[in-house]
Amino acid sequence: MKVYLDNAATTMVRKEVVDAMIPAFTTYYGNPSSLHEFAREAEQLLDSARKDVANVIGAKPDEIVFTGGGSESDNMALRGAVAANKKKGKHVITSAVEHHAVLYTLQAMEREGLIDLTILPVDEYAIVSAESVTSALRDDTVLVSIMFANNEVGTINPIAEIGKVCRDKGVLFHTDAVQATGHVPIDVVKMNIDLMAISAHKFHGPKGVGVLYIRKGVRIPSLIIGGGQEKKRRAGTENVPGIVGLATALKLTNEHMAENAVKVGALRDKLLKGIADRIPDVKLNGHPINRLPNNVNYSIRYIEGESILLMLDINGIAASSGSACTSGSLDPSHVLLAMGLPHEIAHGSLRLTLSEFTTEEEINYVLDLLPQIIQRLRDMSPLYPKQHNA
Ligand SMILES: *Cc1c(COP(=O)(O)O)cnc(C)c1O
Repeated sequence: MKVYLDNAATTMVRKEVVDAMIPAFTTYYGNPSSLHEFAREAEQLLDSARKDVANVIGAKPDEIVFTGGGSESDNMALRGAVAANKKKGKHVITSAVEHHAVLYTLQAMEREGLIDLTILPVDEYAIVSAESVTSALRDDTVLVSIMFANNEVGTINPIAEIGKVCRDKGVLFHTDAVQATGHVPIDVVKMNIDLMAISAHKFHGPKGVGVLYIRKGVRIPSLIIGGGQEKKRRAGTENVPGIVGLATALKLTNEHMAENAVKVGALRDKLLKGIADRIPDVKLNGHPINRLPNNVNYSIRYIEGESILLMLDINGIAASSGSACTSGSLDPSHVLLAMGLPHEIAHGSLRLTLSEFTTEEEINYVLDLLPQIIQRLRDMSPLYPKQHNA
């Protein structure tokens, strides 16, 4: 049996999305900037995709800029917002649990002397409180960047509250909504969001295409320089098939969001409870309630996350330890460390992320296998206390 439980890293492109993309490769392949019928057809596809995306997040079509993915959208938002506000100041606020597309970009900007950076701590669940943002704000603060939902532990932040704090102070608010999009309702107007990153491959769309929402009135310079595409906000011939795929995937995900949250949430709860019931010495990471409906993240004491992944892989189960980008190295997760977990426990984390295509049979298979795998690894582990072996 092959079981894919790494949907926070990437997802399967759904069939309807592939079907919608094919004509953009084979029939409507014109360059939208050219002056002929092929171009106009391609441009119509872009226009309609832009409207669809805007509708889902409560934005206007011209507030949607298509990019090359979530990382690019984050980079553009951060570098652009700082460059556009040089006169006002250079203080930026973020959190310790951001995706590296945000955290490493801001740390690089700090080394380049472009910003003064405040990295807010989080609580034991990885929540960034609006109060901590309020108390970190200064007269020279130009940008706050706090993620909507965490990619490792699934914790959802109080984004509307943080947005309100920033708007009241006239400070730009960027949120990395790459994990949240398609899983929880988002309204950029009600939530006072100025800039927001989205990535198609996290909700059954294609890889390498994303969105940066830029609120009307917020002017930030382009990250990619060249042609005048995307109203001069992102140079480069538009990835028309990718953009069609992104919009189709987002529309479909959004239409089924409520029913999927219930369906996926029930399987997630079965997995959460099954692990807690069958495996001793585990600790749930992330908030028990304010979490994405598809995320399970446990620390498994006395063994390394990587060794669990290997054993799961041998048995056809795709899972993750920490984030996709850091596994492969033996560094403990920066998210778990920021939540206050000691090093030895932060090493032994297991992330299982479901999708609407996950089945009950698959969850049962994992619940049958995982306790045996963990017992075997613990029996071999020198860290495992003797009394457990009796
Ligand atoms: C996956 C991810 C990104 C990066 O998106 P890409 O499209 O892969 O560049 C950024 N932020 C979060 C929270 C993510 O989960």
